[in-house]
Amino acid sequence: MGGHHRVIIIGSGPAGLTAAIYTARASLTPLVIEGEPSSTSDQPGGQLMLTTEVENFPGFPEGIMGPELMIRFKEQAQRFGAQFLTAKATRVEFGELPLTVHVHGDVHTADSVIVSTGAQSLMLGLDAEERLIGHGLSTCATCDGFFFRGKEIAVVGGGDSAIEEATFLTKFASKVTLIHRRDTLRASKIMQDRALSNPKIEMLWNSTVVDLVGDAQLEAIKVQNTVTGVETTMPMSGLFIAIGHRPNTDVFKGVLDMEDSGYLITRPDSTYTNIPGVFACGDVKDHVYRQAITAAGSGCMAAIDAERWLETQH
Ligand code: NAP
Repeated sequence: MGGHHRVIIIGSGPAGLTAAIYTARASLTPLVIEGEPSSTSDQPGGQLMLTTEVENFPGFPEGIMGPELMIRFKEQAQRFGAQFLTAKATRVEFGELPLTVHVHGDVHTADSVIVSTGAQSLMLGLDAEERLIGHGLSTCATCDGFFFRGKEIAVVGGGDSAIEEATFLTKFASKVTLIHRRDTLRASKIMQDRALSNPKIEMLWNSTVVDLVGDAQLEAIKVQNTVTGVETTMPMSGLFIAIGHRPNTDVFKGVLDMEDSGYLITRPDSTYTNIPGVFACGDVKDHVYRQAITAAGSGCMAAIDAERWLETQH
């Protein structure tokens, strides 16, 4: 079953659901194509569904569990009439109005579309990752560093993100081991110098994490030396994976302007994409801040941009 809508929102993390709250309150009855349940971050609710406690979202002084926060976002949008479709957009046609979004066999059309499909952290591909994410395993130092005060933790990666996360984590952890698969870092010189001169950071070169130990909580990691093949088990209370991110933009390739890395390009200080009536917000266009609160803020911007754009169309 398809249909025509004033606004279709693709993606249902903090950005998409904030856009849904705003457009619903503006009586635009948005349809949110929220994604499909999976173990990745493009599932309904986005990356917060993979976290445990969120302590930095304003308004929750005692903290709130990531999934519960997203359920509340959704309920707030539903209260004002947002409709939800638990499916993924499989193809878009933005060449002419109305804009068309295919969802498997169904065709939905809209006067405007807000893209908020988010991004996902690249993972190592270990079976235990799904079990331990949010339980000692993290992809966000800003979000979770605080939980590791006085503990020994490790970061995987050799780029600017890994160095930035490792350096940030030294504020909390007693020691940070930076595990890199080669013997030279990819990170910029200034970032390298910062990490190598930090007494709390220890480098573990030519090493990959091959397994995670712990049922309900991370207890140790198994690390293999890529040169000798020797495997060691290191007790570890926290492991941060910082090997890059990937925006969920496959379905928009060749349609929306994007950087080589796949992040959508929007006009400065706005959420306008290159297609009139199509707006982008949240992590799908932000590789700098990547926070729930900044995503929510840009979802609000997209809703206001869409509302104003729709007004000019009639
Ligand atoms: P990146 O530059 O692509 O680096 C990814 C790192 O992870 C590389 O060192 C890579 O190893 C390693 N890696 C990739 N897959 C791996 C795997 N399966 N197992 C183990 N290691 C793996 O990504 P990024 O650090 O997220 O940075 C992305 C972009 O943002 C870059 O342009 C970066 O300069 C920028 N950035 C800038 C700042 C800043 O200036 N403050 C901060 C963060 C990010 P290899 O080196 O062996 O390939």
